[in-house]
Amino acid sequence: MSTDVLNFSAGPAMLPHSVIERLRDTLDEWDGKSASVIEISHRDKSFIEVVERAEASLKRILGMDDEWQVLFLGGGATGQFAGVPLNLLQPGRSAGYIDTGQWGGKAIQEARKFGDIVVTASAKDDGYAKLPDLALVDIDPNWAYLHFCANETVDGTQYGTIAQTAHSVPLVADCSSELLTRVMPLDRFAAFYGGAQKNVGPAGVTIVCVRKELLGSPQAICPAVWDWTQQGANDSALNTPPVYAILASGFVFEWVEEHGGVPAAAARAAEKSTLLYETIDRIPLYSNDRATRSKTNIVFRLTTEELEKQFLKEAEANGMIGLKGHRAVGGCRASVYLAMPMEGVQTLVAFMEDFAQRNG
Ligand code: PMP
Repeated sequence: MSTDVLNFSAGPAMLPHSVIERLRDTLDEWDGKSASVIEISHRDKSFIEVVERAEASLKRILGMDDEWQVLFLGGGATGQFAGVPLNLLQPGRSAGYIDTGQWGGKAIQEARKFGDIVVTASAKDDGYAKLPDLALVDIDPNWAYLHFCANETVDGTQYGTIAQTAHSVPLVADCSSELLTRVMPLDRFAAFYGGAQKNVGPAGVTIVCVRKELLGSPQAICPAVWDWTQQGANDSALNTPPVYAILASGFVFEWVEEHGGVPAAAARAAEKSTLLYETIDRIPLYSNDRATRSKTNIVFRLTTEELEKQFLKEAEANGMIGLKGHRAVGGCRASVYLAMPMEGVQTLVAFMEDFAQRNG
């Protein structure tokens, strides 16, 4: 992306500049071959090494040991709304779901096609402004798992900490819009997944991390490409994987390693979102009513829709794109993912202050 433009969209998002440069270099020559990395076979030894390297780096930054299976698949997080029950919900069993918001709701709709789903709690009564407390949610210990969306991209809400549930149950989370910005409490999770196009890499690859002990009993109807056990046994290459997106993701994992790991990325996410919320709370023109606020998707309203339109127009003219809120909720949203620098947020804040002075 041009260094003059700041992309605040909910994804696909910006990548670290050094990663873009590394990617550009791979197009000229790859591993001493005249063909570039996107022109070689996914069975080529040099590409298999790309997958192995990406996996090893991701495991290092998230602290996953050999008990964890990492998969790089196609189909997006939406594909995994089906993938989760197809792999983890055996016939005759039930799974609990929390209706956390737009994406948690979509996961429920999809999972219902594949098994008995119990919606145990919903943020609906709170206007999707507050996530149900994990510690207070009713749990049936016989459930195959409990699913929730850890960060609701559209609603701008997030679980700050992953509280202990009342009874033990395997937790499965959609982490699409917060991957790599939370130090994952791995001991709490059975599986988590997310599309790469926000915090990790370009669109096309979906990351699934699952405890190996949960593999081996997919539903009989599970399509082979969605079968985590088969994909794991084939190093995510049961069919042709999204090669370039995996390469880019691997470069981003290494970038995270070079920049202080996930703890530093989490601290930067806290710093960026704190500055934005402080600005929204301080200036009367802006507001955010979220009780469990997201560190990556900061939603806000202006006092009138007219002013929101004007704000978005002027922001774009000043090189800040993608600030329009999702059509389902309206308003504005600043998505500040992994590669958004603090200076980018400071530029937005300076614009917000100036706009408020002129229109407040
Ligand atoms: N879950 C969440 C939390 C998301 O933000 C998104 C995309 N915005 C999705 C799922 C759907 O992802 P995909 O487009 O990769 O299927």
